[in-house]
Amino acid sequence: MVTKPEEFFGFKIGEDRKLARWDRIVEYYYKVASESNRVKVIEMGKTPGGNSFIVAFISSPENMERLERIREISCKLANPDRPLEREELEKLVSEGRAVVVITNSIHATEVGGTQTSIELLYRLASSNDEETLKILENVVVILFPSFNPDGQVMVVDYYNKYLGTEYEGTPLPWLYHTYCGHDNNRDAYMLNLVESRFFAKIAYHDWCPQVYIDHHHMGSYGARFFLSPEMDPIYPDVDPITWRETQFLGTYAATRLEMEGIKGVETGAPFTPDFVSAFQTIAYFMNIVGILTESASAKIATPIYIHPHQLRGYGRGRFADRPYMNYPNPWPGGWWRLSDIVRQQLLSSIAILYAVAINREMFLRNAYLKALRNIERGLREPPYGFIIPEGGHDPLTTLKLIDLLLKLGVKIYRVLEPIKAGSVIYPEGSYLVPLSQPRRPLAKRLLERYLYPDIDVTRDKDGKPVRPYDIATDTVADFMGVTVIEVTEPISAKMVQVSSVAPPAVRLEKARGYVIDPRLNDSYRVVNRLLAAGVKIWRFRDRIEAGGVEIPPGAFYVEDSGNTYDLLLEAASQVGVQPIAVNRDLLTSYPNHYEVKMLRIGIYQRYYGGNMEEGWTRYVLDNYGYQYTIIRDDVIKSGKLGEYVDTIIFPDDALPMMTGENIEEEMSKRLKRPFKLPPYPPEYRSGFGKEGIQRLKEFVESGGEIIMMGGAVELAYKGLGLAVRDLTEEITDTRQFFCPGSMLRAIVDIEHPLGYGMPRIAYIMLVDKPVLEVIPSHNNEDYVSVVTYPERDILRSGWLIGENILSRKPALIEARVGKGRALLYGFRPIFRAQTHGTFKLFFNALYTR
Ligand SMILES: [Zn+2]
Repeated sequence: MVTKPEEFFGFKIGEDRKLARWDRIVEYYYKVASESNRVKVIEMGKTPGGNSFIVAFISSPENMERLERIREISCKLANPDRPLEREELEKLVSEGRAVVVITNSIHATEVGGTQTSIELLYRLASSNDEETLKILENVVVILFPSFNPDGQVMVVDYYNKYLGTEYEGTPLPWLYHTYCGHDNNRDAYMLNLVESRFFAKIAYHDWCPQVYIDHHHMGSYGARFFLSPEMDPIYPDVDPITWRETQFLGTYAATRLEMEGIKGVETGAPFTPDFVSAFQTIAYFMNIVGILTESASAKIATPIYIHPHQLRGYGRGRFADRPYMNYPNPWPGGWWRLSDIVRQQLLSSIAILYAVAINREMFLRNAYLKALRNIERGLREPPYGFIIPEGGHDPLTTLKLIDLLLKLGVKIYRVLEPIKAGSVIYPEGSYLVPLSQPRRPLAKRLLERYLYPDIDVTRDKDGKPVRPYDIATDTVADFMGVTVIEVTEPISAKMVQVSSVAPPAVRLEKARGYVIDPRLNDSYRVVNRLLAAGVKIWRFRDRIEAGGVEIPPGAFYVEDSGNTYDLLLEAASQVGVQPIAVNRDLLTSYPNHYEVKMLRIGIYQRYYGGNMEEGWTRYVLDNYGYQYTIIRDDVIKSGKLGEYVDTIIFPDDALPMMTGENIEEEMSKRLKRPFKLPPYPPEYRSGFGKEGIQRLKEFVESGGEIIMMGGAVELAYKGLGLAVRDLTEEITDTRQFFCPGSMLRAIVDIEHPLGYGMPRIAYIMLVDKPVLEVIPSHNNEDYVSVVTYPERDILRSGWLIGENILSRKPALIEARVGKGRALLYGFRPIFRAQTHGTFKLFFNALYTR
């Protein structure tokens, strides 16, 4: 007998104002596994918050006995190393079972998924109805009850704390993960988070599922339930079978929901599948059917009341609340509760599992067919592949890109003879990603120069660009600053497959001193380790020569004394940085140098749901070994900021969210729709206000440094009174300027301390705003442009309308303010901890210079 959820938790799952908490859910999963021979639960590891990250495998007892064989077949079909004989294929198809992965509540405030998973587990573990048995016989279900257990705990505890008060059901005031909020579902290819890596091991690598279901919530006032397929644009290199299978499963599930009398089900809009960074969308690029479900939100577990006239379409795929082909049965309004969400999520999961079960052979055969077609297409259609030259500007980051591609299941080779691309010959040992491979769509999309489609479906009736659902590019090589070369001729070079990469072992002779190359991101880790141990480090302002190598401005230097050698060797070996041993007196040879010290770093943190880019900034700081202090309003307003820090970072944000003033008015104006803040408890309403701005001004004038990134530069000209403006504020027509997250070409002053170690031409990420301009004033010389847009050919990847607006404008300004300085990053140097190519522009700001 399997214990019923109601018996175990003491309430019915989905009941108003009741949420099962993660620790109890984990207990329940293990209990069910001990009571049923259909279920096996494993812990993949711990989250940053110390919670268990578990996954359940569910199938018939017979299948559970031969899981390893089923796994093997699944991957053999999805990832064949050679074409299969017909007989062999048929044998695998009949012996194999379909594999479906289900994830829940990666966005922890979207509580339904995790709660529903309890019911789904119980149903599959205990029921003997025909439908369930059919599913178990034909499908292996891999169920992740929560993609973000830390957030689940935070949300449940916060919800329970305010239950019965006027703040009941308000969303969590801070980020629902140590390092990020909603953006944890933008980590699908960068795999920064440990949870992402757990998932990738199962879904990208070990199991090669045919179908992936991801349960989310959306806003409260549209459809009740969205089910894939999404809407155009689609990526043309994804095999059409994948789109058709998605339509098939989504439509089947929607039909089943209609049969149950569930109203308000929408398919085909307003979500789009044309980006790679979300887990459900990356599935398509791996030939996996990705089913997204989005349920209308209640107030966490508290019912919400909705007037019929408040219901609306989204203006993308559906414009009003009346029957449409993709929304044939409108919901009439009224009360909306967690139990409605649980019911529709459970029904849809079961429906999809059943549809896969009765079409098992088709899904297995198609997995193979799609792989084969991608292999063939890559032989037929240019580009034929991409060369990643060994080394490059930052060889360790090049290796990180290769390691990442391997984790994503992309096949990579090293050529055993020189290979030609265009008129250039690349030497033996260069890395090659041929596009003749099963995951061709993914490899192509991440490595090509992708231009977002500017076509009929991406413009509205007035010719205005329709905003992409996420940013407009995901060219990971550009993000990381790694040069990749397109191969436009068929490939014939001899090559050998790469299964893993690691930096060469570090070897260091004891010498008078050691130079550390400023071009490597990892050099900053080494420097930070040494600084933390009290080692003196210098930086050369000029180009130097050391050990026969020429190094651009900004080289780090340590002299040998005490245990410096051991410390350096250990720190360098850990990350693969190769220091250069020198026996000359470099400090005398290059007198233009200075001692580097890490500044006392502060990072501004606010409430109102938290600021995701703040989380990612801490992620990068932690990873590279920077010490920092979290600064909140009280410290800023106290006027004592200078006692704690030398520099304060304001990650990308909107000024009203930082000051806490006129948030609703300002945000309504920006979003062009009414914006109302949830009624947060007073202790979670933040903002440093005018008083804080005045104190920040005093801080910088008396010698402090203020770092503002992306949208946060508003603080510079609206708050600190700098002679700078953002040209996008005066352009309201998106036909004149539009840059919804694109990589842009920029010129870096590598002789300026902020530009040390950078290549002269870099790609930078701009999301919407700002476009900076220094207003002509009496003190023009106080403003230095460290990164500047070229005159033209600015767009590298993504979508840009109005290049002329950016032409020759500064993208990074260092401004002198009194005795201190303000740094205005008119782009996103550490965007989602993904833009490794511009990390150094940020790191350099964190030291004396
Ligand atoms: Zn979501």
